[in-house]
Amino acid sequence: MMPDYHWHTARCGHASGSMSEYIMEAQRQGLIEVGFADHIPMYWLPEEGRNPGLAMADEEFPFYVQRVLSLRETTPVPEIRLGVEADFIPGSEGDLKSILSTYPFDYVIGSVHYIDGWGYDNPDLMHEYEQRNLDELYALYFEQLCAAAKSGLFDIIAHPDLIKKFGHRLAKPPLDLYREAALAFAEAGVCVELNTAGLRMAAAEMYPAREFLVECRKKGVPVTTGSDAHQPEQVGWGFRLALELLKDAGYSEVALFRERNRTFTRI
Ligand code: ZN
Ligand code: FE
Ligand code: FE
Ligand code: ZN
Repeated sequence: MMPDYHWHTARCGHASGSMSEYIMEAQRQGLIEVGFADHIPMYWLPEEGRNPGLAMADEEFPFYVQRVLSLRETTPVPEIRLGVEADFIPGSEGDLKSILSTYPFDYVIGSVHYIDGWGYDNPDLMHEYEQRNLDELYALYFEQLCAAAKSGLFDIIAHPDLIKKFGHRLAKPPLDLYREAALAFAEAGVCVELNTAGLRMAAAEMYPAREFLVECRKKGVPVTTGSDAHQPEQVGWGFRLALELLKDAGYSEVALFRERNRTFTRI
């Protein structure tokens, strides 16, 4: 059984479909457990600096939570979890902590979407890659990823090599960075997310890369699964491949969350 723990909603400004349509698609595929994990409001910026096309507004957040909770009440199958995808922003940990404590999340997925304020995964800002040294960029990115894990704010680290999204790759896979990150995840007790969205991007493979996932497994890091669906048709995207990859990497179970408590189920 593989849960799909990473769904967005139209509230974030760049996803489509109704929340019931995501659930109906999950029912069609026979998924047993799923979770919404929409983008948290851009809490680290003043209101006027926020982009409504990237995340929901503050005042939408309680409605997002209520809607997930009420769908959970009325949907026998699949089990619906309340998650959130929360940006890790160094220096703003306190603000995030207090927002997260406001709602009864089943799990919190931590994401590094910004490097010193640059939204490196935003297609509109892709030109910035030309100004960068890729080795330095990867090092910076992985540093933040480890800091996110160690912050203690998150249950799961999202799409852990998202920096490859648009196909910007190093000459050789950065095995040292993978090892360092896997160790940081293990020490922090967080899960790594196997996120199939990379299959839909220029990266043309899941996040993380196979070698990175293997390092995580060797260090005993638990794994969760998510499609990062931004439309109902993307629910369960690539899950057959994901199952194969997990087994190849030596995983026999995936993590489940309820009220931020972790259990495991066999795959
Ligand atoms: Zn998104
Ligand atoms: Fe993300
Ligand atoms: Fe996402
Ligand atoms: Zn994401």
